[in-house]
Amino acid sequence: MLPPGSTIGILGGGQLGRMLAVAAAQLGYQVHIYAPDRESVAAAVSAHHIQAAWDDEPRLAGFAAHCDVVTYEFENVPVDTVRFLSGHVAVRPGAAGLEIAQDRLAEKNFVAGLGGRPAPFAAVPDRAALDAALERIGAPAILKTVRMGYDGKGQARLATAADADAAWGGIDRHAAVLEGFVTFAHEFSVILVRGIDGEIRFWDSPVNVHKDGILATSTLPPPPIVTGQQDEARMLMAKIAQELDYVGVLTGEFFATEDGPVFNEMAPRVHNSGHWTIEGAVTSQFENHIRAVAGLPLGSTETAALPVVMHNLIGGGIETVPLLLADPACHVHHYGKAEVRDGRKLGHATWVGVSPA
Ligand code: AMP
Repeated sequence: MLPPGSTIGILGGGQLGRMLAVAAAQLGYQVHIYAPDRESVAAAVSAHHIQAAWDDEPRLAGFAAHCDVVTYEFENVPVDTVRFLSGHVAVRPGAAGLEIAQDRLAEKNFVAGLGGRPAPFAAVPDRAALDAALERIGAPAILKTVRMGYDGKGQARLATAADADAAWGGIDRHAAVLEGFVTFAHEFSVILVRGIDGEIRFWDSPVNVHKDGILATSTLPPPPIVTGQQDEARMLMAKIAQELDYVGVLTGEFFATEDGPVFNEMAPRVHNSGHWTIEGAVTSQFENHIRAVAGLPLGSTETAALPVVMHNLIGGGIETVPLLLADPACHVHHYGKAEVRDGRKLGHATWVGVSPA
């Protein structure tokens, strides 16, 4: 158990790091942020900050020497960075989950190997492979880059095989995976936390609505089809966490289909679809992640009251904050980012026990 006053290092400086840092402070810890970006909304609420490149080994070693444990809030931290740090300080979760989550192909094969069901997929290392993949998978389909994809980035949709050239150009000719288009009733996520001793707890699954590939809302309770598929999806996520000897919060995104839950992707970190847990659960995903990596007992993941509604404030959506502040039932989160850009996550709003007016 990490004593209060210890320092928790976080790789990545975005809003997930910011909310983790607030949770860590609540438990008496200091937070040290390491991120290459000039702006860090996580550093703004943390005791210490290093702005340096992911491969700057002297700076990484200095960071490690100053931290009692290190975690990450960004799934594209290079695996080599985590491996390097692991030689100096405990990094939780470790490199294994990160490495798999960074490679869509490896992720799908790994999950299928554990009995999970991803959408039909085929590797597309080059343009010629796309034609072969289309023949096998058919259209409509989605072409996704193997690496560096998130929030709908690095994706192109193909209505028919005639879209192949445009899609291949649309993802800048990077190595990719072609996925069959899944007909789903709803999307949902499974968020779990696994402690150092292997104990696993799940939050209730919200139904998630995406717009332009970016999460727009998470709502509980979800429709019955999601509730009915939650257990099967949980079993898969628990297997994944155990297989990786994972410590911390792990998220899986699923499609609820007529034939059961289809695995979409996983994130080795706290997740946007879990932001509702700050006010909507007894212990938030952020607090339980900190508890897990610090070796503390996990807190209750029980939902505090229903319904729960979380709206993301994306781009110009942040301008609704004054209105939201006037709503006595609304919990407003502003990430404090300087620049308003289309598609950028700038805040979120949560209602617990009531629906938004
Ligand atoms: P991803 O970045 O893979 O989570 O994709 C972003 C969003 O695109 C998902 O949340 C879905 O709304 C949609 N999507 C992704 N893959 C598929 C698929 N194979 N079939 C249908 N919709 C998909």
